[in-house]
Amino acid sequence: MEVQKTTSEKILSVVAPAYNEGAGLDKFYSRLVESVKGLNIELEIIYVNDGSHDDTIEIMSKQHNSDSRITIVDLSRNFGKEIALTAGLDHATGDAVVVIDTDLQDPPELIPKLVELWNDGYDVVNAKRIKRKGESSFKKISSFLYYRFLYQLSDVKIPKDTGDFRLLSRNALDALLKLREKHRYMKGLFAWVGYSQTEITYERDERYVGETKWSFWNLLNLAFEGLTSFSVLPLRLASMIGIFSAITGLIFAAIIIIKKMMFGDPVAGYPSLVVLITFIGGIQLLALGIIGEYLGRVFNETKNRPLYLIKDIKSSKFRE
Ligand code: UDP
Ligand code: MG
Repeated sequence: MEVQKTTSEKILSVVAPAYNEGAGLDKFYSRLVESVKGLNIELEIIYVNDGSHDDTIEIMSKQHNSDSRITIVDLSRNFGKEIALTAGLDHATGDAVVVIDTDLQDPPELIPKLVELWNDGYDVVNAKRIKRKGESSFKKISSFLYYRFLYQLSDVKIPKDTGDFRLLSRNALDALLKLREKHRYMKGLFAWVGYSQTEITYERDERYVGETKWSFWNLLNLAFEGLTSFSVLPLRLASMIGIFSAITGLIFAAIIIIKKMMFGDPVAGYPSLVVLITFIGGIQLLALGIIGEYLGRVFNETKNRPLYLIKDIKSSKFRE
């Protein structure tokens, strides 16, 4: 009788990217499987091994051997989380997909709640962090400010304080997979596709083991990526500052000429000259830098390389 039921069941794909997460992967697996047990839905797990140097792939393979619901996408090297996620999403077969970190910072126990809202008809269910445990106050404050800054600047309204943890319906996923840009700011792309979106809130746990794979520079990079992928405002700002300083310069020149003609003032003010030159020089370099940021991205997009390369795939029963 059980078998009859499973054939009509829908499939939920859980996409889990991992970079050196070997130590916590078994715990992740057991909590995940436990969390979806009560749901009337088939589970598919898509692991992406993002070029780990530890035993991540061995542990994944062991789980794969005893559980036919697991697919492993083994990338040829470390491509970074945004690309690893994409690789996983490309291989998901489910009617809905949940994106989740393997370090157990996103509690798998929330998945039933995400699925419930999907059953209510939502295409995208975001999980918003209302609290972040075990993260430095610097990270918390900078991320708080960044999400608000980005929200104001970007053309797409990217949900604040929302990581990658979310559920997408097949419709939303298919739309997302059409976006093949190389500079991928996933949080922005998730928002870009639109559809009916809703959110739940949760408290983000501490990492189960290990430490964050994101250095300060990685995060700064990601922040730039978010800005430049979803807004051309910095470019416009550069032109506006240019126009402003040109006009001020003109006014200043007029004042000097008039002063000279009317009062015969000898030219004075070496210090103010130096200040002006360095100030304007600085603005020029800044504007050039901003243009360079965008130009570099254009360069990378035009190379048309594949997003990632796969070393090996071990397929779940759903992909056969
Ligand atoms: N991750 C990845 N590739 C990377 C870096 C991270 O697949 O190059 C995975 C990592 O294994 C984890 C998730 O992305 O499952 C989030 O990474 P992490 O916990 O280091 O980031 P944080 O939670 O500190 O933002
Ligand atoms: Mg984490």
